[in-house]
Amino acid sequence: MSDAEKQETFSTPERKPYETLLEEPMDRVALLKQYLTIGSYLVKDYQDALDDQERAPAGPKKETAKKRVNNTKKHLRTFEEHSIHPIFGPLMDDLNDRLWGIDPKMRKAGTITGPDQRVTQLIAQIADEVAMTEGNNAKEVEEAIYNITKGGDVQLAMRPLLHGYAGEPYLRRALISLFERTTGDRTLTEEKIKNVWLIELYLRKLGSSLNIGYELNGLPPADEAEARINAFTRNPQELLEVWRHIRRDAPTTFAKALKQLPEAARQKLIDQDIDSPDELIDATQIDYEDLVLEINQRLGLPGRLPTDEEIEARQSDLGEKWQEVMPSAGFKEEASSKEISAVWMPKGIGSSRRQFNCHYRSGNRDESHTVSDSILNPYEEDERYWRVQAHELTHKTHDVMLHKGEHTRDAKGELYLQPGSGNAVAHSIRETLAMLVDNAALRYYKTVVKKTPPQSGKYPDTKYALTIRVQGMYGLGQLWTRQRINEFIDADSAVPTVDAVAAIYDDIAPRLRKAHEDGINIKHYRSVLATNLWEYGRYDGINYISNDLKIDTETDGPQINPIRRAFEKQFGEDWLWGEKAKEARAVLLCLYVETGKHPQGTDEDIEQLAQFVQTTKPEAALEKLQALGIADEYI
Ligand SMILES: [Zn+2]
Repeated sequence: MSDAEKQETFSTPERKPYETLLEEPMDRVALLKQYLTIGSYLVKDYQDALDDQERAPAGPKKETAKKRVNNTKKHLRTFEEHSIHPIFGPLMDDLNDRLWGIDPKMRKAGTITGPDQRVTQLIAQIADEVAMTEGNNAKEVEEAIYNITKGGDVQLAMRPLLHGYAGEPYLRRALISLFERTTGDRTLTEEKIKNVWLIELYLRKLGSSLNIGYELNGLPPADEAEARINAFTRNPQELLEVWRHIRRDAPTTFAKALKQLPEAARQKLIDQDIDSPDELIDATQIDYEDLVLEINQRLGLPGRLPTDEEIEARQSDLGEKWQEVMPSAGFKEEASSKEISAVWMPKGIGSSRRQFNCHYRSGNRDESHTVSDSILNPYEEDERYWRVQAHELTHKTHDVMLHKGEHTRDAKGELYLQPGSGNAVAHSIRETLAMLVDNAALRYYKTVVKKTPPQSGKYPDTKYALTIRVQGMYGLGQLWTRQRINEFIDADSAVPTVDAVAAIYDDIAPRLRKAHEDGINIKHYRSVLATNLWEYGRYDGINYISNDLKIDTETDGPQINPIRRAFEKQFGEDWLWGEKAKEARAVLLCLYVETGKHPQGTDEDIEQLAQFVQTTKPEAALEKLQALGIADEYI
């Protein structure tokens, strides 16, 4: 998005670009100094509180000490998250542009007419290579690549493949190569590692550490988190469910993966069922592109990019449909009507086409609060758009409700939530709720709109299952890289040297590729390190599977989040659209407020939130919503 487009998108008074909670001096050095002072104080305060808690005798003193720990934890978590953006933001944004072949200066000025020099050369080179092996004309291949990527937009390169409109096999090969080589660029990936290093160094200078960061966010220490991610991605029940989805959603790809199995075993898997993932241990590698292509063709997706008119129509249609299912998505007290729907990214090259969240502030500064806004790839297919829309608007509604909680007094004159509670809610909690809703939303879409009910289970379908599954690998990429960086920092290398960064790349990049082949052997185009490393989001990836990282106490299936279990127990599997949907939604809205009281995402927090769902009477929830000023039409 160019600066002008950004300006326009965020120019409504209710949609202001995300601002840090802290004042921003213009001078970056002064800013860093100021942050180091505040941050070191907060780390020390947290550690003192932990010591106090350790020493306090059981009883009321222990309770007071525990409260202080939670409070200092909350402050430090909020600070770490909010201070990284203003210091390191510009560095990260420029690098991410360049990774995708976008000239950051031109993007900001809105003058992009094509990819940058690196990607332009890459396209010419790939066209030459393809022409050489296929015996066609290099110029024509090059033209075909530009045509199908709307002028050389690498982020669009995978779309035609996954939707099956790339035409000739040579063009498919060229597009895969373009994607892999653009994002797989070693030099830029090393630059990314350097940036992550600077952030880790900054956090270490505060006195914080990777493990403290994990602790603040309700996650196990890094080593243990790694073990638990592996346990999750290799969990037999988990694998069984994913295989069953693949078997149903992409039978041809499934059968192809069985080609090395003895005929009897092969026929059994095709005709009957999978009883254990062990039966598939000798399956061959599945190409992610083939898999998704088959699924999309079976879904009947059109074999071309949508037109601008189709995009417009879909936006309003799916937006309206979602508000019928979830009226709170249309809160008007807090948001202008423009904000009710997710924002489409401008379609010109250089706008980041991935959907992503931006935070913006609502209203005047005193009343301000951050809410998630979502910017969507205009070329996404309906089903995915539907799910992402439900996800992002849940973040938004969640924040609106936290804001209400902080600004409304109950009958006794007490605020429902202490000021600042909303900002302190950990990402894992936010994602848990967004996924609770997006999972149900996708099941609704399949059942009610498409009339092809999903298999019951943890995941509605293959694509959803794989999206969650790759969060494990993504989490590992993030974790491993930061662990290695911290080892170097421990060994007294404060500055990222060329050799150290190269060593990290050589170590992590192949491990990450292998991780994608673990459990279910899938060749995934997103297995390169650069797309598995997000500078701002130290815990991104793990955020989405925090519940899967809990110690497994169930043996009878994949771990379904206790909050989802509670909703299904109280209101049925179809809680989002069944008979009791309104009651369920009332409890959900109150649950959003309740997260302000259990902000860390620990097992205890999640249990308490699940308990809340189970014990809150819908009538009481409706009453509370009235007190919070939520009109009935939004419930
Ligand atoms: Zn999210």
